[in-house]
Amino acid sequence: MNLPEYQSNIGLNETDLVVARPEGLYCEAGDFYIDPWRPVERAVITHAHSDHAHFGHRHYLASQAGANVLLSRLPGISLQTLAYGEVLVIGGARVSLHPAGHVLGSSQVRIEHAGSVWVASGDYKLDADPTCDAFEPVRCDTFITESTFGLPIYRWDAPQTVFDGVDSWWRHNASEGRASVLFCYSFGKAQRVLASVDAAIGPLFCHGAVEPLNRAYRAAGVRLPPVGLVAEIPAKDKAVFRQALIVAPPSAQGSAWLKRFGDYSDAFASGWMRLRGARRRRGVDRGFVLSDHADWPSLQTAIQATGAPRVIVTHGSVEPMVRWLREQGLEAGAFDTQYGDDSVEADAAGADETAAASSP
Ligand SMILES: [Zn+2]
Ligand SMILES: [Zn+2]
Repeated sequence: MNLPEYQSNIGLNETDLVVARPEGLYCEAGDFYIDPWRPVERAVITHAHSDHAHFGHRHYLASQAGANVLLSRLPGISLQTLAYGEVLVIGGARVSLHPAGHVLGSSQVRIEHAGSVWVASGDYKLDADPTCDAFEPVRCDTFITESTFGLPIYRWDAPQTVFDGVDSWWRHNASEGRASVLFCYSFGKAQRVLASVDAAIGPLFCHGAVEPLNRAYRAAGVRLPPVGLVAEIPAKDKAVFRQALIVAPPSAQGSAWLKRFGDYSDAFASGWMRLRGARRRRGVDRGFVLSDHADWPSLQTAIQATGAPRVIVTHGSVEPMVRWLREQGLEAGAFDTQYGDDSVEADAAGADETAAASSP
């Protein structure tokens, strides 16, 4: 995405703690990058989604809470971790990580140098999620925000309302002896769904791409209900799926893997399901509007809670957000980044099963 008009408007100056470089967002005071997309010496990683956490850096710094998932996605990296709120001095910068509420271990990066405080949010949400720490507002002078769903049409129902809908769809299918297959991203969304549905309705199963993430979540102390692995059920026992909720990555859609379920109903859980026609384009029976990103009101709430007079937008609906920020009297601009939204935050873990995965 090219936004030269905003970048030239941002008035980059020498006192800026973070600037956009070809490798990623760079902090000169500490000589490190935040979620760089090209190999660098020192990377601070906000969270383990594939558009933020890349292989190839020499040193990684991330939250303690996210260590298991990060290492499950990038095995063998040189990783230093910080507890949330713990301060590390890197060069001339005081750096700390604070919960972003997006997925397990997701962090906002707070940087303090020469009397100025900047916070880079990574991805975040304000809604309750039993699988990760809640978003923590951090006061700062400049807030670097995502804007994945930064348009007024994006307003989420309360999570419990969404999960009540999932439960009643599942209950209805089970009463008719039909499997319920729910497609969602295997890291974050899948664990949130498994932790939030009513496990009394029937057995829970997952696709092989989801299982390593479940394991990493459990190792980090997140409570998930018992979840069977679809591949471990022999064909003679497949009747068990008739009462089951099966969580699978979008890449499994349209694949032969689904044949074992016989008669099934399918659904997709994503913030994009808010868009008219999204469910039909996805070709699923049901669409559940469930996102791990902030909706439009939550973005506004989060930004205002920082008290920052200056805001820089990284990805998503950049232009409408910049316009809204300026209407609020804030100084606003954008960084050109390679962060995606959750339509491309697909599955590194599911990449081996990508057969039918192309999403519009
Ligand atoms: Zn993310
Ligand atoms: Zn992202």
